[in-house]
Amino acid sequence: VASRASQLLSSQSIGDLLNSVEAFLFDCDGVIWKGDTLIDGVPQTLDMLRSKGKKLVFVTNNSTKSRRQYANKFQSLGISVTEDEIFSSSFAAAMFLKVNNFPKEKKVYVIGGEGILEELELVGYTGLGGPEDGKKTAQWKTNCLFEHDKTVGAVVVGLDPYINYYKLQYGTLCVRENPGCLFIATNRDAVGHMTDLQEWPGAGCMVAAMCGSTEKEPIVVGKPSTFLMDFLQQKFQISCPKMCMVGDRLDTDILFGQNAGCKTLLVLSGVTSQSTLQDPSNDIKPDYYTNKVSDILELLGA
Ligand code: PLP
Ligand code: CA
Repeated sequence: VASRASQLLSSQSIGDLLNSVEAFLFDCDGVIWKGDTLIDGVPQTLDMLRSKGKKLVFVTNNSTKSRRQYANKFQSLGISVTEDEIFSSSFAAAMFLKVNNFPKEKKVYVIGGEGILEELELVGYTGLGGPEDGKKTAQWKTNCLFEHDKTVGAVVVGLDPYINYYKLQYGTLCVRENPGCLFIATNRDAVGHMTDLQEWPGAGCMVAAMCGSTEKEPIVVGKPSTFLMDFLQQKFQISCPKMCMVGDRLDTDILFGQNAGCKTLLVLSGVTSQSTLQDPSNDIKPDYYTNKVSDILELLGA
């Protein structure tokens, strides 16, 4: 099926978009900030959208922080955003378990950061692993068993700069040997902007390591999963055609919005270049594209 070409955002189309949508879902890295650096003109644009009564939601696949930690990050960049406007993939993992009535007596093994452990704890789950297991090592020995907790009922995998063979053995045993143990991925991003200067391997490679050893595919809870979109819809009671997803990545953000029937706006301030967007082999086409979020403000002449 030939998809329609994306339109460069114009004064006319931003006007139409503002008239037709009630909520803007903003991806964070590449849209709001790059690493720890704020992208120019973002606070003013968000203020303007709020002044027009638009609901703003922030959706990030980066699982390393909790919502509380993201609220602090927004604040340190001079943007006032509350925790309940933030949907990180760390939070999504905890919500997935909660809405699926994951039993409180079972434990969750985490290959990932503090953000995931904090979100799990906030809903009353016991997390194991995480940064603490970064110091451990594993090596097989004759007649020696690697012990793991048989009450682990889910393994959550996100970005983990301290991933090691111990964690892989632990997570693999849980998924392969504990009956019904869930294998959950916060996201599968290939790379992330750990700083504004450079990309580093993202959660995708940690997830892939676990796919290799477990021979299973994970349940993905971050973008582009429908779980997160369904959750947002339930929470805000706004139908998808009245939402616009703004993102810099085609295979997470734009696909996330498009799968649900949201309007989509690609910004070129992050990982996607105009030539990638226009490459004939790319079949994910946003409705609109523009250089950066603050173009919205400029095009409106505000
Ligand atoms: N995962 C990691 C580890 C990252 O560092 C990033 C971006 O910096 C992402 C995912 C993507 O985040 P977002 O969804 O906000 O673009
Ligand atoms: Ca992004």
